[in-house]
Amino acid sequence: MSKKTIAINFDTGWDLNPAPESTSHIQLNEQYQLFIGGKWVKPESGKYFATINPATEEKIAMVAEANEKDVDKAVKAARKAYNDVWSKMPAAERGKYIYRIARLMQEKARELAVIETMDGGKPIRESRDIDIPLAAAHFFYYAGWADKLNYAFPNRHPQSLGVAGQITPWNFPLLMAAWKIAPALATGNTVVLKPAETTPLTALKLAEIIQESGLPDGVVNIVTGAGATGAAVVNHKDVDKIAFTGSTGVGKIIQNAVAGTNKKVTLELGGKAANIIFEDAALDQAVEGIINGIYFNQGHVCCAGSRLFVQESVYDTVLRKLKDRMESLVVGNPLDKNTDVGAINSKEQLATIHNYLKIGKQEGGEMYQSNCSTPKKGYWCKPTLFTNLSQSNRIVQEEIFGPVLAVQTFRTVSEVIEKANNTPFGLSAGVWTDKGSKLFNLTAQMRAGIIWGNTYNKFDPTSPFGGYKESGFGREGGLHGLKPYLKF
Ligand code: NAD
Repeated sequence: MSKKTIAINFDTGWDLNPAPESTSHIQLNEQYQLFIGGKWVKPESGKYFATINPATEEKIAMVAEANEKDVDKAVKAARKAYNDVWSKMPAAERGKYIYRIARLMQEKARELAVIETMDGGKPIRESRDIDIPLAAAHFFYYAGWADKLNYAFPNRHPQSLGVAGQITPWNFPLLMAAWKIAPALATGNTVVLKPAETTPLTALKLAEIIQESGLPDGVVNIVTGAGATGAAVVNHKDVDKIAFTGSTGVGKIIQNAVAGTNKKVTLELGGKAANIIFEDAALDQAVEGIINGIYFNQGHVCCAGSRLFVQESVYDTVLRKLKDRMESLVVGNPLDKNTDVGAINSKEQLATIHNYLKIGKQEGGEMYQSNCSTPKKGYWCKPTLFTNLSQSNRIVQEEIFGPVLAVQTFRTVSEVIEKANNTPFGLSAGVWTDKGSKLFNLTAQMRAGIIWGNTYNKFDPTSPFGGYKESGFGREGGLHGLKPYLKF
């Protein structure tokens, strides 16, 4: 396969001197095949689709589109690897492979970070400091569990399931792949992974790493494509477990598809997190947390703090500080190390966000956007907030998945708990207060899988992640993340 070196010239118009990350060291193919049975395999369909850089609208590479036959090949390869090699291998040996993958990811971290940013539009600061290190950390963490499952679940004789079908979204492409592949391998399962169609490149780079690690052929297979490819994985008769992260709508389709089968399922779905600021909070710190929670990753975070509840007595102060801080956010070239808010992942997602801005205004919301300039090419949305809202407004209830904050007020603790819980979702929340007792009172009464206290969007491989209600079920990360891949 021919390799090309990528170089991008950005015509920037920002106040800060440009500080773009170099792209000269990254190696990408012009065309990617499917990764099946340890080899690069042409798709049966003969079809390829382009993956686009959302900051430049330029094509980065062509990627194979897997159909049902390709998915069948991948599942067969995974089954063979499970029966012949992986299920028979001593657990400590399995662990060594997972460690090796983790180390190779660390060695290639810079290249992976640049590719993640080019393919998805997120700022390099995010992919360099969060996505890639955390992805490697997940492999390190689960490598350690591989030979200790009997200690994790004493007297329960944990056993692997077989072949896991895994489907991931575009907002944390490599990290979501790591959340899924690492625990599956540690528990002795083999994998067929289907990455999101707008961000397949880091999963394909991971396939190269997996080849380099010497992992036995077929233990991890990667099939690219859109929803139909994902559906083929879900509906394949010889898949024992489905792990899905994505929208609640697709999660419901998957739940229906596996009903009546023996497949185990975990669903990590959407969110509409409440970030709550009490009058006794350290306000500057809280405002920084709000900014981090909704704007730093363009709001492309399932646990984004997209609803802000401010105690009435500090509302004016918080709103002023928030708007001041919004004005200082740098929106633009995601490869620039100064950038806070990168590109929206796709044209379709930008259209969805614009539609919600329209709905918010039609419903009577007051919209405020930062006064920044955005590049001429690419998909951009200025940091936005809405005030003058009511609980029933669609922009308060529905997941927008963009840099759009819905701001409301409250007077009492019971009022804010009721408002925070008034959503179909239950993934995450944030509470900002000086009083530990208040924090514990709230966390006990809020229906959210993850609640941060005086901080936001902090992740660790040892800590379980997952939701309530329409945010899905099952947990990924930590000891809890092993269970969905085991039978007892
Ligand atoms: P999406 O549901 O559109 O797509 C997710 C994946 O499912 C993609 O790989 C897609 O190709 C595939 N897919 C689409 N239709 C399918 C079908 N019928 N059968 C099987 N697979 C199918 O979601 P998205 O737009 O890629 O991601 C954004 C969503 O993901 C948001 O709702 C966000 O909240 C959620 N998310 C949740 C978490 C979490 O941990 N809870 C983490 C990240 C993202």
